Amino acid sequence: MLSFWMETRKILEDADHYLMPTYSRFPLVLRKGRGAKVWDIHGREYLDFLGGIAVNVLGHCHPKVVIAIQKQAQRLIHVSNLYYIEPQVRLAKLLVTNSFADKAFFCNSGAEANEAAIKIARKYSADKYGPDRFEIISAMDSFHGRTIATLTATGQTKFQKGFEPMLTGFSHVPFNDIAALRAAITPKTCAVILEPIQAEGGINMPSADYLRQVRGLCDEKDLLLIFDEVQTGMGRTGKLFGYEHYGMQPDIMSLAKGLGGGVPIGAMLATDRVAVAFSPRTHASTFGGNPLVCAAAIATVETLLEDGFILDQCNRMSAYLFERLGHLKKEYHEKVIDVRGKGLLIGMELMRDGMPYVQACMDRGVLIGLAGNGSVLRFTPPLIIEEREIDHLIDVMEEVLERVP
Ligand SMILES: *Cc1c(COP(=O)(O)O)cnc(C)c1O
Repeated sequence: MLSFWMETRKILEDADHYLMPTYSRFPLVLRKGRGAKVWDIHGREYLDFLGGIAVNVLGHCHPKVVIAIQKQAQRLIHVSNLYYIEPQVRLAKLLVTNSFADKAFFCNSGAEANEAAIKIARKYSADKYGPDRFEIISAMDSFHGRTIATLTATGQTKFQKGFEPMLTGFSHVPFNDIAALRAAITPKTCAVILEPIQAEGGINMPSADYLRQVRGLCDEKDLLLIFDEVQTGMGRTGKLFGYEHYGMQPDIMSLAKGLGGGVPIGAMLATDRVAVAFSPRTHASTFGGNPLVCAAAIATVETLLEDGFILDQCNRMSAYLFERLGHLKKEYHEKVIDVRGKGLLIGMELMRDGMPYVQACMDRGVLIGLAGNGSVLRFTPPLIIEEREIDHLIDVMEEVLERVP
């Protein structure tokens, strides 16, 4: 036991010594995962209701993903995009046939997928209207990534502080305010970028008709509508893509997080009308859509779609988790303000900072996250989560709500 503690301490010390301090990490070293469970280096078990922040849609080390990676690793790991890559073509076909989109571009992260979306929107507009129409409107409290362009699009100044100046050509409007969006459109506007459900910003839901109204406004003004589905995509909300809930479609969609079942891959999808804006040498990525990650993503998407079983499971477990969290909200109404979300993207807003609750859950072997200004507990478990695992979470949450002031 002691030697394990020493091992943990050594890893923490080396991390402090050799890694840039970009994360305020919990003193926990995870070494193994299966399904919705992970184990630290002491062998202590944790129930993972954070799921790699909405990445591990199929849970940890799903056998289909593991085997796909193993097989592909033995065959071919990387070749240049100067040649045709079989798994990349198959993955594009799979995503296109199951979405509004006609074409896909592959990259390596959510921020890069949004970069590609921003670039193709500007290029489309430049080709059609000339160079003066390049502005993009996004929502306050949105999160689109950490590169300079996606950071500029992000509607939260706390992420931008110290990195100014931001890029020109972006403005922000309140989410769910169609009048504000209309008022923000200028002759220079080319696109609107939104998360259908704002995830990092606090699990903020779109109001009844908002997204359809945005679609209508974009059609009226010939603006491209970009949906950042990096977090809401890949079954997270109970449908393969978030937009499917809202009776409308975007022109461009970015994906990442759950797409590769854990391996780093991003995608930008668009209709043919938009996709023609990219031609050879307009955009590229060395690693984008490489054979290894595409094999993992194919296994992930195919498993998600197989008989709809996993989406069904996600929806059943979502209903159950909402019911149980709803009871907790009633029981602890002096501490819990709201429970909201869709599918297995769920937030529980508290009266106060949520960190002590996250910490108390971890002490009891359950991993959860935070969103928004820190007062929203975030639950993004694997979509294969089971009822008894939710029961376990609720037992722990009940105790934590009881004990933490
Ligand atoms: C996580 C996230 C991103 C950024 O993805 P990275 O892979 O970290 O670059 C962008 N948009 C949304 C909605 C996200 O949740």
